[in-house]
Amino acid sequence: MPGLDERRACRWLISGRVQGVGFRPFIYRLATELGLSGFVRNRSGTVEILTEGDARNLDAFGLAVQQQAPALARPDLTCREKIPVRPYSGFRILPSSASNADIHIPPDYSVCRPCSEEMQDAGNRRYRYPFINCTECGPRYSLIKAMPYDRTRTTMSEFQLCNACKVEYENPNDRRFHAEPLACADCGPALWFQQPGRVAVHGNENALANAVAQLKSGLIVAVKGVGGYHLMVDAGNESALARLRVRKHRPSKPFAVMFPLTDDLIALHQAVIADPLALSALTAPDRPVVILTKKPQTGLADGIAPGLSQWGAMLPHSPLHQLLLQTFGGALVATSANISGEPVVTDPAEAQRLLARVADGFLHHNRPILRPIDDSVVQPCAENIRAIRLGRGLAPIELKLPRPMPFPVLATGAHLKNALALAWDYRVVISPHIGDLDNRRSQALLAHTATDLQRLYDVRANAIICDAHDGYASTRWARRRARESGLTLKRVGHHPAHASALVGEWPRTVGHWLVFTWDGMGLGPDGTLWGGEAFLGKPGQWRRTASFRPFRLAGGDRAGREPWRSAAALCWTAGFNWNTSAMAKEAWQKGLNCHETSSAGRLFDAAAAMIGLTEMASFEGEAPMRLEAVADPDISALPLPLNQDAENVWRTDWAPLIPFLMDGRRSAAARAGLFQASMALALVQQALRIRAEHGEINIGLAGGVFQNRLLVEQALRLLDEQGFTVRLNEQVPCNDAGISFGQIVEALYGGF
Ligand SMILES: [Zn+2]
Ligand SMILES: [Zn+2]
Repeated sequence: MPGLDERRACRWLISGRVQGVGFRPFIYRLATELGLSGFVRNRSGTVEILTEGDARNLDAFGLAVQQQAPALARPDLTCREKIPVRPYSGFRILPSSASNADIHIPPDYSVCRPCSEEMQDAGNRRYRYPFINCTECGPRYSLIKAMPYDRTRTTMSEFQLCNACKVEYENPNDRRFHAEPLACADCGPALWFQQPGRVAVHGNENALANAVAQLKSGLIVAVKGVGGYHLMVDAGNESALARLRVRKHRPSKPFAVMFPLTDDLIALHQAVIADPLALSALTAPDRPVVILTKKPQTGLADGIAPGLSQWGAMLPHSPLHQLLLQTFGGALVATSANISGEPVVTDPAEAQRLLARVADGFLHHNRPILRPIDDSVVQPCAENIRAIRLGRGLAPIELKLPRPMPFPVLATGAHLKNALALAWDYRVVISPHIGDLDNRRSQALLAHTATDLQRLYDVRANAIICDAHDGYASTRWARRRARESGLTLKRVGHHPAHASALVGEWPRTVGHWLVFTWDGMGLGPDGTLWGGEAFLGKPGQWRRTASFRPFRLAGGDRAGREPWRSAAALCWTAGFNWNTSAMAKEAWQKGLNCHETSSAGRLFDAAAAMIGLTEMASFEGEAPMRLEAVADPDISALPLPLNQDAENVWRTDWAPLIPFLMDGRRSAAARAGLFQASMALALVQQALRIRAEHGEINIGLAGGVFQNRLLVEQALRLLDEQGFTVRLNEQVPCNDAGISFGQIVEALYGGF
């Protein structure tokens, strides 16, 4: 036994993601194993630890805290200080102390391996219990009412723990010690199955069996999950899928497929190409939808993603989904249960009302969902997993700012794929996907999320940022809020925000940037619609240096859904013919309802229409997705003219592409391949020209067009050959869902 004089005492403060991830029990076990005395407690986000013991064990403790932390924890040791020795007896977990410190909200996690094994064990008291969870898995964000994270402040507070659960909850050596959503079949949430007009079927097994029977007979079942309802249907049943498309008014937008979680993942591997990188994303605790290349023979229905080469694949994220897929014994289509573009439905009564004409049956449960949250979507591209949509498991996501924000700021993002961002101090939190703001429910969710985020993190914004476009519902909301509450309002251009959203993810990359911001359309400061721009500089100081030859586009907002309009505009601008009504051409010639644009996204639309792939799109991005799907990746590029305009902006002229794209003797694969390769080459030629003028630059690729994997990989290969350093978005989506983060970064450097 060491004498008292050889003992040391240490105080540790640990921030980062340490709540709701089993961190305190981990500290307890570690300290006990090392014979340390003292205590651990939560202080609204920061974990405070006092340890006492010999110096060697204290060092071992410090090392283990960082190296052996629970899988979901992201501990960040912010302080270690020596303190006077004051003998404690044993090691204890003290109650949370509510102080206004760093609050971190844990996202919802998929079921962990030990829980999954217990659920399969006929001798376990939670055998086949659809709501099994522990400190390392289960719902969090979707059920937290307030911080600090304790059961009384979640929607689980209405379920009284039974004695057996209570013992686990109170035992620091149990892996369910303070697992806040802790439950079992005796005391926790339960399933029931409802067919409209019939008596409800209660009991977990009965309800599950009824749902599976309906799915087996090709019917559509609405299933309540973690963040809302999914509509599910047999992924191998073509006519069932066709019925879902008709009822959902969704003629061709791709559906995601959920595959059963088996050891060999055989059903998944039969349908899609999943390399180790893809598998790591599929099995991660956030269990996102992963966009993967489908195999020629999938064994499943073609109607899942007609005409596309990629599928959204996912594995079950909750114990309920795991049981459902296992009992069903095959893959199921799983699509968010909403009315096109609206937030996902979360409440049983609301589900039955809103989905009465869509679903044949409803698998409900009685664990309330406090916040709707959609599935996350990610894509492997250029050797990394990149976020497309931040939802369940990933959001709310937090990034560190390279310098502190002078005061708390709320950024309201774009109009489509809306997400909010809240920044204060060195922190910025991005909300889950809110959606397209064309409808009232999405707009209401935006307002609710803005209040909710500030309340959860206990931060009140002093300023608000919006896009430059007055037509965006997010801009209108921000202006109203600013007026009503006397907040400072700042407007940030759409494309500078894209550029800054990228650079904000790479704060350590030194030097100047050239960021290509290729997307649909956003309002530029000259009143034209931008979307094919390249910006030189850094956040707060962007200067447009390259773009495309502008063209006049008719149809206003409709142009995005009607690719033929882009094709016609290019043909008419360059003196080619496009077959359509004389009236349409006359309107275009007169400039009625026309806008000048330099959008790269519209060039992809035009190419898809000229090749005959998509003249009318039924969902955003359909035309470029079809183009990418058919493109032959080995076709050489057509070099395009690049000239400087009167304002010193380098402009690529797309006109030489038209005769090739319109040449019906060439295959669609060859024409699409030529277009893709030529766009990649055009990008590299712009970069080379600007490097020749301005010296060394880092290249960034931002904006929704860069969800096109083929384009990115072709551009990266060429840029690499020329010795450029290239960065893409990783955690923040490159599409408009990243705009709110970019607005924050613009304000951080550009001021208010
Ligand atoms: Zn677990
Ligand atoms: Zn229980």
